[in-house]
Amino acid sequence: MFQKARIKLTAFYLAIIMLISLSFSAVIYQGSVMELNRIEQMQRFRRPSPTPMVPGIEPDILEETRGRIIFALSLINLIILGVSGTAGYFLAGRTLRPISQMLDDQKKFVSDASHELRTPLTSIKTEIEVALRDNNLNLSDAKELLQSNIDEVNKMQKLTNHLLELNRFQNGNGNLNFSKVNLKTVVEKAIKEVKKLADAKKINITKNLQNSTVNGNEESLIRLAIILLDNAIKYSSQGKEIVVKTGKITTAGFMEFKDSGIGIKKEDLPHIFERFYRADTSRCKGKTDGYGLGLSIADRIAKLNSGLIKVKSKPTKGSVFTVRI
Ligand code: ADP
Repeated sequence: MFQKARIKLTAFYLAIIMLISLSFSAVIYQGSVMELNRIEQMQRFRRPSPTPMVPGIEPDILEETRGRIIFALSLINLIILGVSGTAGYFLAGRTLRPISQMLDDQKKFVSDASHELRTPLTSIKTEIEVALRDNNLNLSDAKELLQSNIDEVNKMQKLTNHLLELNRFQNGNGNLNFSKVNLKTVVEKAIKEVKKLADAKKINITKNLQNSTVNGNEESLIRLAIILLDNAIKYSSQGKEIVVKTGKITTAGFMEFKDSGIGIKKEDLPHIFERFYRADTSRCKGKTDGYGLGLSIADRIAKLNSGLIKVKSKPTKGSVFTVRI
């Protein structure tokens, strides 16, 4: 498809360039012929002898000059055709590459999302089919089955919520209202949301919070802080500590989330903000739930708030995520 579009675009560029070039050539030719005719007439007028144009220009030479002009203009047009064809093909490739990349990304995204949705659906279907074939299914088995089904439905709900959120923050400014926001308040509200999760793993969240007012959207920044705190808890073992800081560096406000969890390998670091990317799947998948969408959402939120997220991490030592707004 890319190749077809590239050739079409090249032909389009070429058609425009050749139209201009041929129009110019026609004008030049017309002008030159008119000039030659004028010279011819002038010479006839000056020497009305049976041997005209001697020692003026011979009529053969005038004819030959016309032929030469046609030849030169055709050659120039051929060269323009060749050069602009090559340049047009190259430019068409450059113009179309980002679009083709976007389409590839979109395809990958749809295929990843469908795959993630298909897994729990298959699991629910298989469990129900097995249960239906079981003649000795009792109430307790049925309840167990329903519980397992509910767990899978919850996973799907979480995934669709993430997809909707990604879509919301992906498009334009996500209809966000911006105002003065204190990052200290943002983090305090986010900590409240993840408190239960942290308590369940006996993880202590140490706060070192200073007032830091920025221009942003509070709701989305709280969501960003929740994602980073949620990950810090998820990728830390029982009893570890998370340290959260807020403050100002020159004019920028910052939030920092430091954990001493499993950390991230150097080769995974450039990819963790990609959609559906989960570092070292053997370490994560099946052990910690998630779809690899949290950091993509966090990254979009940071950008919408004119900010950026930086990460430093060492395997087994822990990670530090810093958000600057
Ligand atoms: P997930 O739902 O898998 O947590 P994210 O997009 O939030 O998706 O994170 C992408 C990947 O980055 C995770 O799968 C994990 O491997 C890695 N990661 C993110 N935060 C941390 C962290 N605090 N400690 C270790 N690894 C992390």
